[in-house]
Amino acid sequence: MKCILCDKNEAIEHGLCSDCLDSNFQINVNGSVDLTICPKCDSFKVGNRWYREGMKGRLAAAIRKHITGSSGSAEINVVSDSISINRPEGRIDFSVAVDNGHSSLITRSESIPSKILLNSCPICNKVTGSYYEAIIQMRTFGTNYTSIIDEAMDRIDPFIVNMESRSNDSFLSKIVRLPEGLDLYIGKKNDAIKMTRFLHENFFSEIKITKKLAGRREGEDFYRYTYLVRLLNLSRGTIIQHEGREYLLEQISPNSLTLIDAASERRFTVQQNDFYSGSYSDTQEKAELRRYIVISNTASETELMDSLNFSRFTVKGSYHGEIMAFYYGGKIIPTEIPVQ
Ligand SMILES: [Zn+2]
Ligand SMILES: [Zn+2]
Repeated sequence: MKCILCDKNEAIEHGLCSDCLDSNFQINVNGSVDLTICPKCDSFKVGNRWYREGMKGRLAAAIRKHITGSSGSAEINVVSDSISINRPEGRIDFSVAVDNGHSSLITRSESIPSKILLNSCPICNKVTGSYYEAIIQMRTFGTNYTSIIDEAMDRIDPFIVNMESRSNDSFLSKIVRLPEGLDLYIGKKNDAIKMTRFLHENFFSEIKITKKLAGRREGEDFYRYTYLVRLLNLSRGTIIQHEGREYLLEQISPNSLTLIDAASERRFTVQQNDFYSGSYSDTQEKAELRRYIVISNTASETELMDSLNFSRFTVKGSYHGEIMAFYYGGKIIPTEIPVQ
């Protein structure tokens, strides 16, 4: 049987000869393949990953996923060596070799739209420390650098190591030590959010977020975010003033403080948000936390002896054994802090 199209050659499939089958073979290219090239080290990014070498092979594989042929059984290959990047036109040119199993290879020239960007890669960013999307400003409740910042840094360090090992886009670009605290430059904004959340969950702290237009990148406005983390650096016994009254700081947990009214000795809890939004201030004064030995007690009163100077005091309430109490303004205020 002759080919139904050309009526010259023998038909081999669907009534067509091999020449006509080949010339009727359709290739469809769908979608686009974007490429980012690092101008500093020639690394490149295809899809979500950066690679150091083998650009044409990686592109061929990526482009292949966007190609379909009119016959499902044909073997279609993107010829790596044929790949040509046309940045001004925003496309990649390449040739396709099709083996449909019954004649010589069919070769076609094709192209796919491609946004080709020049952007510094994560490794170069890390090395130069120039790239960051966010800054975490670690500060104290006051204006000075205190050990709470080092403590927070120690806690967050394993978190950062883990974050960096999971994605090569994640990195801490640099740390700047200032008289008032640390500035952490973070590659990805999302990592800064995670780190800030981690700090907030583990330390009594306040977070303030600001953003600033830093220019344009990839055709869009590019913002840099600042996460100000104020860590409470006060210790037990600190005298805090609020609305004309004095309070002793008894306990600190990541989300609340226990305060004792110095005059009434009443105890209450302040949540993080209320503390930072209220007008609480540090008086720089501190009550001494001391150990007292119970000498005697009744149902309503206890006689205590100071474990250091053996002076005796009577306090309200019934206590037993040994207790911790604040000594402030000649007054003894028993606490719930365990004996140390
Ligand atoms: Zn034919
Ligand atoms: Zn690079």
